[in-house]
Amino acid sequence: MNAANSHAAWDLVDARKEDFIALSDAVWDTPETLYLEHRSAAAHKAALEAHGFRVTEAVAGIETALMGEAGEGGPVIAILGEYDALPGLSQVAGLDRPEPIEPGGNGHGCGHNLLGAGALLAATAVKDWLERTGTKARIRYYGCPAEEGGAAKTFMVRDGVFDDVDIALSWHPMHFTGIIPPLTLAVTMIDFEFTGRASHAAVAPHLGRSALDAVELMNVGVNYLREHVPSDSRIHYAILDSGGRAPNVVQAKAVVRYSVRALKRVDMEKLVERVKKVAEGAALMTETKMRSSVVTAMSDVLDNPTLYALLHRNLEHLGPTDFDEEDRAFARRMQATMSAEDIEVAFLSAGVAQSDKPLCDLIVPLATRGVPMLGSTDLGDVSWVVPFAQIAGATQAIGTPGHSWQLTAQGKSPMAHKGMIHTAKALAASAIELIETPDLISAARADLEARTARAPYASPLPKELRAGTGI
Ligand SMILES: [Zn+2]
Repeated sequence: MNAANSHAAWDLVDARKEDFIALSDAVWDTPETLYLEHRSAAAHKAALEAHGFRVTEAVAGIETALMGEAGEGGPVIAILGEYDALPGLSQVAGLDRPEPIEPGGNGHGCGHNLLGAGALLAATAVKDWLERTGTKARIRYYGCPAEEGGAAKTFMVRDGVFDDVDIALSWHPMHFTGIIPPLTLAVTMIDFEFTGRASHAAVAPHLGRSALDAVELMNVGVNYLREHVPSDSRIHYAILDSGGRAPNVVQAKAVVRYSVRALKRVDMEKLVERVKKVAEGAALMTETKMRSSVVTAMSDVLDNPTLYALLHRNLEHLGPTDFDEEDRAFARRMQATMSAEDIEVAFLSAGVAQSDKPLCDLIVPLATRGVPMLGSTDLGDVSWVVPFAQIAGATQAIGTPGHSWQLTAQGKSPMAHKGMIHTAKALAASAIELIETPDLISAARADLEARTARAPYASPLPKELRAGTGI
């Protein structure tokens, strides 16, 4: 690591930070979900243009996905951002009690306003550094929509958007600063639609074939299946259409949506096939017809020790985020709205000894193995085609539940902005180190090739499925 380059990167981030605090706040103010992020994407496009990036819109045919590139020749380093919000999490900023701005409205309950603006700030600092030093390399910012429930990046990967990228980096707002362990679940979300025959349930029940019965039997069957699946698997369902409100009509149509998760994509795909068999069995038992259709799918995140070590080294060099007494006081007020379990679980999942500190004041050691909360992310598919790693940046009171009003409430606070700027510094310095050290890029690429040699990547999405349909 070249210390002069790191300091240059940090200074370039500081020089630009006001624009990106404004961008983050603007996105927070216009929370949009699931492929409808038109104003948020427009704000990111405007920021890219204002800073002289070459912009490509509608990446992979997705209206709210975009890419900005700067520099010429050399390696291509990508920093990935997001800007989608969540439904039902509207909340007044800075308030320590639930009060929506708009009842039932959207809110940035996962901090993606910070994620996108911080990633773009890092990319801008790298661009400034390339110009200042006359270095041959390209830096890209990818604006990725619909992380929440839409798996946009899986579609972007399928479309080859990242094929000429050498390294991809990202981050996520969290409780603690460190790296995000590459441990997530592959998932397929799949709908099962049963079609039977309507009939008067009292007068002619023998003529009816109930689609609702099929859904119920399928769910019972899957509940028995649970005992015989790998222990890290998760299977959950929601009935989208129970067939109507009238008990005296045999339900002719019913739809159940399943999410099937496992540690590895191949195991997840096997499990989906087993769930399909249960659905077929339910159709057979009820003399109904069953049709299944995949809604979205995501792969597990692959490890890349070279890149995780690089990001961690740059975080350690930078040191913890410089929160002040006002930040800690606000974080303590937010913690007062949380349960003891919320706070305990945050320490446990990070692998950090519990204390009464309201904000992270350390860099979680690289070797720390907490008890990660096993979710899924569409960054998984990116990690199968490009060497990838991501940072966790402390932006919130320790214990803040994910996807909560408390998280929305903190998204415009000075502490959130500080965490965003801090992470942008580590990302920018890491990107510059990669550009300056071709051996690091080769090592990261070799690591990916070794990991995928025996199980090459195959998109978990059906060929004909288009982003944003059927959700
Ligand atoms: Zn998120």
